[in-house]
Amino acid sequence: AVREAGGNQIVALSADRHRELNRAALLETRLLKALDEKNLHVLYQPQVNTQTQKICGVEALVRWDDDVVGSVAPGELIPLAESTGLIHNIGNYMLREACQQAVSWKKAGTPITVSINASVREFRDKNMADVVLQTLAETRCPAELIQFEITEKFALEAELVGSIQKQLETLQEAGVSFVLDDFGTGYSSFRYLQILPISAIKIDDTFIQAIEKSEKTQKLVESMIQLGKTLDLTIVAEGVETTQQLKWLQTTACDILQGYAICKPIAVADINKRL
Ligand code: C2E
Ligand code: MG
Ligand code: MG
Ligand code: MG
Repeated sequence: AVREAGGNQIVALSADRHRELNRAALLETRLLKALDEKNLHVLYQPQVNTQTQKICGVEALVRWDDDVVGSVAPGELIPLAESTGLIHNIGNYMLREACQQAVSWKKAGTPITVSINASVREFRDKNMADVVLQTLAETRCPAELIQFEITEKFALEAELVGSIQKQLETLQEAGVSFVLDDFGTGYSSFRYLQILPISAIKIDDTFIQAIEKSEKTQKLVESMIQLGKTLDLTIVAEGVETTQQLKWLQTTACDILQGYAICKPIAVADINKRL
């Protein structure tokens, strides 16, 4: 039994809740250690331009394979990191890795954009823009090679919007670009398009994967592409899994494709072979 209700009320936790809390505590300890020992790694998934058929960018995706807890998928890792505040450490780690890698590809004569995922909440931190600019400077990475894929699954406090807007604008002026990730499913997508300096939308995989099955979804995707074009945005489709989806998307004005039908997330050495 653990005191959870506050006051002098004592509530017995269910076995499930107890296990959950134990796992969360263990994961947090292990994550701190992994960050300290730089034991996280990054896989990169190619993004292909529909005009040239060439790789124009990659999305950096965090991977954590721990000695004690085993491999922890981003679906569990990111919410945990967000609730403990360790998301900033992960964000900084991914940014540095991405910048170094972008520089290395540029030096090899194959400059490509590297996209990093970040929740809009990460930009609540008033130092975020400064940290990003400093990392770009330290790694000598041109800002134009770095892109943030931003998501928001929750409502944002109104009083934070101004500060977030300022952070993104500062970075955009420096050359960094922003993609609205999971487009069509996020919280207040239209509001973000209205107020944030976004240059691309990434249509969520749940739409892409329903293309074959539903004519309504095809119409929805076509409308999203049209909307994006009207706003002069680059259109990316994520989670392209089948040849059928790939072929259909190639008949639309979609600019960039990403998904298992093209390539899974892979290590740097494997990206190098494909460049
Ligand atoms: P996301 O940004 O929408 O990334 C795409 C996810 O779909 C990745 O999962 C990728 O491996 C997977 N994927 C790629 N192609 C396909 C496909 O054809 N079919 C299917 N079914 N899936 C595909 P992953 O790596 O497990 O990441 C899940 C989510 O976790 C990401 O979704 C992103 O929101 C978040 N995430 C991953 N790495 C980071 C990170 O470094 N920082 C933050 N803040 N979030 C991250
Ligand atoms: Mg993403
Ligand atoms: Mg996405
Ligand atoms: Mg998604």
